Amino acid sequence: MNPSFSLFPGLKQKNHQFAVIGLGRFGRAACQTLHQAGYEVLGTDIDEKRVTEVLNNQWAAHVLQLDSTDPTALKEAGIYEFDTVIIAIGNYLQESIITTLNVKEAGVAKVIAKASTEIHGKLLKRVGADQVVFPEYEAGYTLARALTKPSILDRFELDPQHSIVEIAVPEEFDDKSIGELQLRSRYSLNVLAICRDQHFDVNPSPSFKLKKGSVMVVIGETQAIDKLPF
Ligand code: ATP
Repeated sequence: MNPSFSLFPGLKQKNHQFAVIGLGRFGRAACQTLHQAGYEVLGTDIDEKRVTEVLNNQWAAHVLQLDSTDPTALKEAGIYEFDTVIIAIGNYLQESIITTLNVKEAGVAKVIAKASTEIHGKLLKRVGADQVVFPEYEAGYTLARALTKPSILDRFELDPQHSIVEIAVPEEFDDKSIGELQLRSRYSLNVLAICRDQHFDVNPSPSFKLKKGSVMVVIGETQAIDKLPF
């Protein structure tokens, strides 16, 4: 047996299991993406048609019809054994809150819930959601950022203050080294990687010269990233 795995008994297996409650467009997309990435996914919905659709399309390994406001139904389905539960019920406030309360009270370690409004998000936090997502807001925000900062190719928000972004090297940085640009002291940014001709240089040294047309991946404060000369 590989000794490195025995250091974390159960962890590897557990971290690969997700339950998704609510199979609307958001829940289905979460199921499908996790399933395609090779994770063990259980999808559930109160609506039989939604369950059948996910089953027929094989968007999850397991699919069950149940009412998630019923704690016994959740227990019998084994939802409480999952390490991560995604509650994808955006348009039914009461059901979304009761479901979140049920899974948190049963001791599920990580509960991610979808909110449709700010007050919905606050309520989800109050009943114990570990993470609240606002997909419509986030999609609109990302689109607006991409439209106003076209050099930003991709952005991953670590938290509201910090991001990792992939940006086209600005004209002003062309042929200058990372050290010369003082990205760390002037912008509080760290360059994680540079990509040129489909090849990534990870952890580039300060003497690495940037070229217009290449792409750099930086980590830092979102506000500092936005101050870069795009
Ligand atoms: P969209 O389809 O736009 O992504 P959404 O993900 O917000 O919207 P909703 O309309 O909120 O979807 O519904 C999500 C799913 O949750 C629906 O398929 C609905 O049948 C299911 N659902 C609602 N109440 C319950 C419940 N008590 N138990 C289980 N599933 C439920």
